[in-house]
Amino acid sequence: MSVTSVRQSRCRECVERIPWIAPECVKDAANLTIAADKWGFGTTLWEICYDGEVPLKDKKLTEKQRFYEAECPLATPDCRELADLMTHCMTYDPRKRPFFRAIVRDIDLIVTQNPSIKPVPSPEVDPTMFEKRFLKKIRELGEGHFGKVELCRYDPRGDRTGELVAVKSLKPENREEPCSNLRSEINILKELYHENIVKYKGICQEEGGQAIKLIMEYLPSGSLKEYLPHNKTSQKTLYSYAIQICQGMEYLGSRNYIHRDLAARNVLVENADRVKIGDFGLTKSIKDNEGYYTVKGEQDSPVFWYAPECLIHCKFYLASDVWSFGVTMYELITFCNSAYNPMPMFLKMIGPSQGQMTMTRLVNILEEGQRLPRPDMCPEPVYALMRKCWEKSPEKRITFKSLIDQFTLLHATASST
Ligand code: ADP
Ligand code: MG
Repeated sequence: MSVTSVRQSRCRECVERIPWIAPECVKDAANLTIAADKWGFGTTLWEICYDGEVPLKDKKLTEKQRFYEAECPLATPDCRELADLMTHCMTYDPRKRPFFRAIVRDIDLIVTQNPSIKPVPSPEVDPTMFEKRFLKKIRELGEGHFGKVELCRYDPRGDRTGELVAVKSLKPENREEPCSNLRSEINILKELYHENIVKYKGICQEEGGQAIKLIMEYLPSGSLKEYLPHNKTSQKTLYSYAIQICQGMEYLGSRNYIHRDLAARNVLVENADRVKIGDFGLTKSIKDNEGYYTVKGEQDSPVFWYAPECLIHCKFYLASDVWSFGVTMYELITFCNSAYNPMPMFLKMIGPSQGQMTMTRLVNILEEGQRLPRPDMCPEPVYALMRKCWEKSPEKRITFKSLIDQFTLLHATASST
């Protein structure tokens, strides 16, 4: 296991242990003090009061993480003193938790005063439900064919201290669609938990209306397409981005999802060292027995990022994403310079054409074995890997796993200037 996958699995383990693990230990697992045990005691007390129920048992990992992030309390029992004690033990500030001696004293008191303690189901706060009235738009972040993404502050206190979030909604003209891409994107993103996949925070449902918004973490540097032209990072960093994208894609594939829209515009930058895959609007689940997904007449497909089997048979395999990764790598290595944008590059190769003719010609040149040419600044070994992503038959293509190994080797020997 690589260093990053060990870190990823430790991080996952911490989130799985919510709400037993103290919040300060999720951020830093080494942060073990007696205060963490006080939190754990609070959770244990909860289990006792609720007859051995499992707290937050139906929550997905993203939702559990959100629960701590928003500093939510667990539901508390009817007995006021017990509820207070539990809340006190599970205070988010470790310094404010009670001394164990005080806990023992409180419990003694409760037991003498309340001979029978009954558990009461009370509704839990749901930190993944965002109220529309508290979402304050700051600016637009981006726009696609179906939707738009805005930067908002979620400010329930109304004092501008609330968190910044990215909010994706459908454009008004697409709102009528009964099973929109956005709903499916929400359901998929909620299931995913990986350090190289944009984090789901929740949804915002308009009162009475059908419209739904997706709330995600806000990544200040936008997509690689906006970031790379202004930040000429070293090749070593580009290889690190490649590894991270492949790790996110490997995880996605292991969950039997195909992304179907992997491109630099859909890879978001958290900071100079970390990128995350975003935009799961076209992502589909594949059935194990078939191993592919068939599209039925979708418009506006990112054709220049697509493998021949997607264009000819409308079939998408996990290996079809590998092809798109090759094109994405082409964008990375050229720093998303518009002079090397895959679309005009392909259009130059197929000559002047329009509409359906463009598709037919694109398929023809790909079938003839023509591929995007090696850009001047692209090292031979990187181009060789791109070519392995662009093998005509999906079975022959390199896998994300091997790509991770190969880029790790390149990363190890590249200089950081
Ligand atoms: P679409 O489905 O319309 O293509 P995307 O999810 O790709 O929507 O978002 C469009 C653009 O909005 C992205 O290319 C990026 O520039 C910006 N964007 C999207 N999500 C975020 C985010 N979480 N943080 C910052 N910028 C984002
Ligand atoms: Mg997009």
